Amino acid sequence: VWERIWLIREVDLSTERIVTGLIGFREAIGQDLSGVELFVDFDGTLARIVDDPAKAVATPGVIDALDRLREDLESVTVVSGRPVEFLRSIFGDSAFRLVGLYGIEEFVDGAVVVDAVAESWGTLIGHAAAAADAAGIVGMEVEHKRLSLTLHYRATPEIADAVADWARAHAAESGLEARRARLAVELHPRVDIDKGVAILARVGAATRTVVFVGDDVGDLAGFDALDALEQSGLVAVRVAVASGETPSELIDRADIVLDDTDAVLHFLAT
Ligand SMILES: [Mg+2]
Repeated sequence: VWERIWLIREVDLSTERIVTGLIGFREAIGQDLSGVELFVDFDGTLARIVDDPAKAVATPGVIDALDRLREDLESVTVVSGRPVEFLRSIFGDSAFRLVGLYGIEEFVDGAVVVDAVAESWGTLIGHAAAAADAAGIVGMEVEHKRLSLTLHYRATPEIADAVADWARAHAAESGLEARRARLAVELHPRVDIDKGVAILARVGAATRTVVFVGDDVGDLAGFDALDALEQSGLVAVRVAVASGETPSELIDRADIVLDDTDAVLHFLAT
């Protein structure tokens, strides 16, 4: 812990200084949090990465920390590649906006609202899931999220190329889009929705500052959105969570780099 504290440098976002280690949200963003919106990824950010994605749980204390922070912020939005149904199982009836499948789904007024164009790809995704199950790639875990499909190889990295090749071939044949993810490849409907689009669609008119926290290739689109918001005069704070698997581009583009999910808890709690 001491070693990490020594890594903290003076925080001055106006000079785009990158900070690594233990830092609090208020220390980084300021005491007045009106007009501040927080967008945050789930896996690898609010939850430690586990071998079986079904067993991922929020870091103990992190939901309470977000809840307390939310009272002072304009909004807190969890924006994840997971389905909203899964996010609901984690966050329950919290006051956070829950945006799933990289923006395809959102929980609104007690119901899951799905992008209509993405919805029309459901049958093709179902076929892809069945084909993946039948592909016979030993060690590939098929996570069927109804409107997208994740092919995991976390426990068997040696099959990475085989999984990527299968996904690319299937994408070419079916018209789905193959995207890289964290020790996984995903098949998506070919719709122009990603975390960046999801963020831009949800930033309020009165918002001054947008903070986004993520750890994965899918979060680069979120950083793109913050770049665009910065261009239009908002304060944008890009936060990357470092791990051995975090893409270096995400870390290079971050204003703040947090060491791990414990550092995220500290960030959100203080
Ligand atoms: Mg993540």
